[in-house]
Amino acid sequence: MTHVDDLPLRDELRGQSAYGAPQLDVPVRLNTNENPYPLPEPLVARIAERVAEAARGLNRYPDRDAVELRTRLAEYLSRTTGHGVGTDQVWAANGSNEVIQQLLQAFGGPGRTAIGFEPSYSMHALISRGTGTGWISGPRNADFTIDLAAATREIAERRPHVVFVCSPNNPTGTAVAAETVAALYDAAQAARPSLVVVDEAYGEFSHRPSLLPLIEGRPNMVLTRTMSKAFGAAGLRLGYLAADPAVVEAVQLVRLPYHLSSVTQATALAALEYTDTLLGYVDQLKRERDRVVEALRATGYEVVDSDSNFVQFGRFADSHTAWQAILDHGVLVRDNGVPGWLRVSAGTPEENDAFLDAAATVHKAFD
Ligand code: PMP
Repeated sequence: MTHVDDLPLRDELRGQSAYGAPQLDVPVRLNTNENPYPLPEPLVARIAERVAEAARGLNRYPDRDAVELRTRLAEYLSRTTGHGVGTDQVWAANGSNEVIQQLLQAFGGPGRTAIGFEPSYSMHALISRGTGTGWISGPRNADFTIDLAAATREIAERRPHVVFVCSPNNPTGTAVAAETVAALYDAAQAARPSLVVVDEAYGEFSHRPSLLPLIEGRPNMVLTRTMSKAFGAAGLRLGYLAADPAVVEAVQLVRLPYHLSSVTQATALAALEYTDTLLGYVDQLKRERDRVVEALRATGYEVVDSDSNFVQFGRFADSHTAWQAILDHGVLVRDNGVPGWLRVSAGTPEENDAFLDAAATVHKAFD
């Protein structure tokens, strides 16, 4: 048996394990921030129709620049945020993870560094490492808000080439104020011309407006979004960014030709036709998220304010034991390795009830 470390692997990948939450077959799965609602049947039928149309042209490569899709995404962003963006300001790829990878390929890389304020979305660090970009773990306050003074100091000292700001932040659910993002941008530009990536994967679930208007007059700022959460289409693999048209040109230098298949483009276009229906589910999930926060607090848990479709709760002397105890009740939540805390995604009302029952029982057991 050949061990992976026996291969002529890059040094920085030795001893690493692949990223991913456990995919366990349990009744209630609230561990990966998925949307619990399957796509509505009329949309499923529309996808079949559009994919059939695409299939007739599968002998040809897809539209390399995905112009129709980018146009519809630009319209979606403009309509839902009130900030107008054009097709030339939007770029799409297979999930926002791929968007982030393309940004790091273009703006990071060997000899360059990226910073994020942790705990945050761990793929920012992993994709940085995967693209040979050095990773700097920046600080946060104890309440998981960004410590602007400490962050600014760190940026001034370390002079990173890429700055990640995740809002709402995964795994804590914390939204970042527009003034904080603007101040981080100024600090980053003062240190060196650098790219500021605002990861708004959960933007649609926030109590606050989108940070999209901040890209205006800030050519080195990028906002990333995904159809995995609000559109309930994690299986589709469609993420996108909005920025100055020059950033879109830059990622085109590193993207693989024809990276977005015709099938993906057709499916995403069908989903965008059903935006209003899908955003109706988002409203329902936001209400459920708020209910979960209140119920957990009433049970006696500490809960971090959430602007996302998940909730971080604790505190546990040993979060892994608590994770297992909740799993023993048939509910899978996420242990992100944030000491003392666990994260639960908002599910259907029935799933949330099952989780809240399990959480209440576990709380009693740990009291
Ligand atoms: N950003 C954040 C903050 C996330 O939590 C996730 C998914 N867990 C992503 C980006 C990537 O999502 P996708 O690749 O499915 O678009």
